[in-house]
Amino acid sequence: MAVTDHPAPLAALLDGTLLGPGEPLLRPDDLGVLRGEGVFETTLVVDGEPRDLEEHLARLTVSAELIAMTVPAPAEWRRGVRAVVRAWTGDREMVLRLVASRGPESAGGPVCYVLGAAISPRSVRQRTRGVRVLLLDRGFSAAAAHAAPWLLAGAKTLSYGVNMAALRYAADHDADDVIFVGTDGGVLEAPTSTVVLARGRTLFTPPTQGILDGITVRRLFRAAAGVGWATGAQRLTGEELLAADGVWLVSSARLLAPVTAVDGKQLVGNSPATSALAGGSLTAQLAELLDVPVPVAGDDG
Ligand code: PLP
Repeated sequence: MAVTDHPAPLAALLDGTLLGPGEPLLRPDDLGVLRGEGVFETTLVVDGEPRDLEEHLARLTVSAELIAMTVPAPAEWRRGVRAVVRAWTGDREMVLRLVASRGPESAGGPVCYVLGAAISPRSVRQRTRGVRVLLLDRGFSAAAAHAAPWLLAGAKTLSYGVNMAALRYAADHDADDVIFVGTDGGVLEAPTSTVVLARGRTLFTPPTQGILDGITVRRLFRAAAGVGWATGAQRLTGEELLAADGVWLVSSARLLAPVTAVDGKQLVGNSPATSALAGGSLTAQLAELLDVPVPVAGDDG
């Protein structure tokens, strides 16, 4: 086997045609490339089963509507998904992306494809080791974003440049991730995940206004409600994160990452010592509710 343990990413068109490694697909004048015009979804495939596929397909359509783009129907996407899932020869977990780029100005419709890739070892490690986050100002509040639909705060578009820049800023400042805060001090979301906080036996998340309507948080809250947790969407502040019994970033690929520090201040609830209490930690409880795959023994992730 080559230097990497993971196979190369695998791509398919929606008719199920697999693209060879290195086979070009997008034209140089595609508006997805030139202007970040397009939408996408990311989900996890575990043992050949894509998670929450229907919800991701529904959100893809909503995102497309928000940028006045028409994407193929869910049944067409499912064909591309099946082709990638069947051809995958890597680990039991695969990150699946559904991508619709607007295409060239002169072309009739979007360029759509499905991409499968190995999950990064870093993401897997962060499920248990956690992330140190910085609170960063997003420059507008949830209410302002809601009143200004052109900010596309609730759409999953190909314009993730700001989110990636925030993550680089965190890496340059001794942190692993970011929680965006609005100009009114309200907690919003992370660049690629939703914020969840525990206080007693209640799980909170910020209202969806002005942020992406997360699918993982919905799955978590459904499962948590089934075992007696109360759940709710509520405005949260940075101080409330620090005072919480636990804070997590949840998303479709990484699934769950406990926040261990906010702006350099340790979060007691998610400290490594607390997390080490076998089976008893809140992180272990939430991981079970979210069906986070258990690593193979001896696998450092
Ligand atoms: N917020 C943003 C900005 C995201 O990119 C993501 C990831 O898709 C999420 C939240 C979490 O959403 P989901 O749980 O649907 O993956």
